[in-house]
Parts: sequence; structure tokens; C-alpha cells
Amino acid sequence: MYDLIVVGGGPAGAATAILCARQGARVLLLERGRFPRHKVCGEFVSAESLDLLAELLYGENAHLLREAIRIPQARIFLDGRVLRALIEPAAFSIARFDLDAALCSTAKGSGIEVRDQVTVRSIAGDGPFVVSSSLGEHEAQAVVNATGRWSNLNARSARDGKAQAKWVGLKAHFAEAAPPASVDLYFFDGGYCGVQPVNLTNRTDEQRINACAMVRADVATTMPEMLALHPALRERSSGWRALSNPVSVGPLLFRKPQPQSDGILRVGDAAAFVDPFVGDGISLALRSGALAAECLRPFFSGMTDIREALRRYTTQYERQLTPVFQTSARIRRLLRLPRALRAPILLALEKTPAIARHLVSSTRTQPAGTL
Ligand SMILES: Cc1cc2nc3c(=O)[nH]c(=O)nc-3n(C[C@H](O)[C@H](O)[C@H](O)COP(=O)(O)OP(=O)(O)OC[C@H]3O[C@@H](n4cnc5c(N)ncnc54)[C@H](O)[C@@H]3O)c2cc1C
Repeated sequence: MYDLIVVGGGPAGAATAILCARQGARVLLLERGRFPRHKVCGEFVSAESLDLLAELLYGENAHLLREAIRIPQARIFLDGRVLRALIEPAAFSIARFDLDAALCSTAKGSGIEVRDQVTVRSIAGDGPFVVSSSLGEHEAQAVVNATGRWSNLNARSARDGKAQAKWVGLKAHFAEAAPPASVDLYFFDGGYCGVQPVNLTNRTDEQRINACAMVRADVATTMPEMLALHPALRERSSGWRALSNPVSVGPLLFRKPQPQSDGILRVGDAAAFVDPFVGDGISLALRSGALAAECLRPFFSGMTDIREALRRYTTQYERQLTPVFQTSARIRRLLRLPRALRAPILLALEKTPAIARHLVSSTRTQPAGTL
């Protein structure tokens, strides 16, 4: 009998598992894939989770933060304009190839039993729980679902997927001479692509950029098709040389946050998926994992039952994290307005940086409240 089984070993699952293990809980982490691997992601890590990341990545993995490229500026290429915004404090660029492997190796070093290449098929019970996987059956007092945006465990995602326009994600690393220290967002009809410099541990021979897009499947499904959709991006990418095979993912679904279901806490994208252009998905994953660990603490020490832990987690999630999803949904609607309606709003943002700053800060997670 484990105190906790965490399903999914991405940033949300790894953060939950590491922080619960540090409280003394006996934790099993089950991950379907195997690290390291490239993952569709802009690899923009916003500043508000850097302290938490430093807490998680200590010892031999701490170099990732020390060596990460800083991103102090955003440039938005939209409707023939280039809007510039300072990112204060600067964000970090960290390849998911390195980040997810480092978090997973930290989990292993924290006394957590980590099993990769294991797919969880079902979770039964309401405490204790029985988790059935390709490894067999395991029992735990609590379960956290950290399986990401789209998994066999999130039945609602599958239903919603049929109803929404099909968005897909595309990503690859390329060599580019002297890339600017900036996250550049190229918007086109049917999506956008983010480009920023990135390092890969042990590969310092080339200057590398990450290009990552969210695009409607009826507009483009391959990297070359997508790169041709914006004139400035088409021109910039004509000098690129591929350093990784492209990876893709889909469909990408947006829905109301669901921090728990059937007595199970949901963290990261399993609870809700934030629009990638706000660059806050990794932070939300880490923050929700930390919040789940904090809410489970009194349960592990026998002071409350699992229902109370779920109630606290849901309340705090709604207070601290849900506002980010609401703001990003509003910005998404703005970007999808017809060009003529969008123009005066963009002009106002260009002329009044304070509005743009306010908009950016409201897409960031708020400081922790009192539990
Ligand atoms: C196009 C695009 C661009 C993005 N750009 C950015 C960005 O620049 N910055 C940012 O902060 N965020 C970005 N994001 C969002 C970010 O990638 C996610 O928010 C983040 O990965 C969420 O972490 P997670 O741990 O919740 O899920 P994931 O990282 O998806 O991890 C879930 C894990 O669960 C495992 N799993 C799934 N099902 C099972 C199962 N049944 N059994 C066992 N294991 C299972 C999977 O293998 C996976 O490793 C982007 C997303 C997209 C699509």
C-alpha cells in the first residue's frame, strides 16, 4: 500500500511526487513514456515558477537553471506590426528534453519508486484506490492524475475533442546563427508559431532555436507548411537547418478547469490546458503540483481525510490558478476577432505599454494564499 500513486511523470506529476516524498510519503510514480524525449512545447518557462523549480532541481540537476538562456523580451508579429514587450523578470528557455528528464531523475533520487513505460489503464475505489496498469495492480491511499491534456484516463477530453475545432501542436529544433534573446510570436490566420533560442545539455556546438506552433489542422499539419504561413517567419526560417525531427500532438482542447474528479486530484494539463501563447503551462503544472502536495500534507499525517484534502485543493486551485485560464481565454477571443476589429486594440497596446503589461501579468499565477 502506497501513500500516493502519481500517474504521469511530466512537470506536474514529478513536482507532486517529489514534494510529497519530501513530506515522508511513500510514493509510486507511473509514466507511460521514457525520458529524455522531445515534447511539443515552446520551452518558455515563466519567472514565477523559477524559485519552485530551483527547489525541485537540486544537486546534479541544478545546472539546468544556471545555464538556461534568459528571455527578457517578447516580439509579437501580427497584422504587419511588431509589438515589443519587456519580460520582467526575464523568463528562462529550457528544453523539455532536459527539463523532464531532470525532474524524473530528481524524483528517483528522492526515494520515489519511478516506473517508466507503464501505462495506467484504470483507477478504482474512493480511498483506498486500486490502480491497474501494464505493470499490474497497486493500491494507494491517494491518487494524483498528472496525465496531461489528453489521456485514456480523461474520458471527458475524448468527448470534448469531437466538438471542438481541431488544433494541433508542431515543434522542432533548428540551427540559426545569432538568434535574438527574445520569444518571437508569429500570428497567422489559423494559428501562431513561437521561436526562441534554447540550449541542449552537452550540445553546445551550434546555436539552436525552438520553433513551436499551435495551428488548425485544416491550415497546416507539417512544419514546412506551417513555416510558410507568415511572411517574416517564412523568410527567417529559410536559413534554418533541422537539429531534431519534428514532433506533433493533437487535438489541443480548451475546457473549464477540473481540479478533481472521482476522489482523485488533477494537476497540470490534466486539470486544465492554458493557451500556449501565454507561456505559463509549465508554471501552472509545477504550481498545481506544489498545491496538491501542500493540500495532501495533513492527510498524510492523519489529521484530515481525503475528502478534506480534495476540498482544500479545489478551493485553492480556483483562487490561485483559475483566473489565469479566464484571462487567456479572453485574449484568445481577441486574437480571433476579424483583423479590422483587432487593429484599434493592437494600436492601443502598442501606444500604452502599461495596458500590455497589465494583460501579461494577469496571465500569470498569483502568489500563494493561505491554505
Ligand atoms: C504547442 C504548445 C506549445 C506550448 N508552449 C509552452 C511554453 O512555451 N511554455 C509553457 O510553460 N507551456 C507550454 N505549453 C504547455 C506545456 O507543454 C504543458 O502545460 C505542460 O507540459 C503540462 O505538464 P503536465 O505535467 O501537466 O503534462 P505533460 O507534460 O503532458 O505530462 C503528462 C505525462 O503523463 C504521461 N501519461 C499520459 N497518460 C498516461 C497513462 N495512462 N499512464 C501513465 N502515464 C501517462 C505522459 O506520457 C506524459 O509524460 C505548450 C503546449 C503546446 C501544445
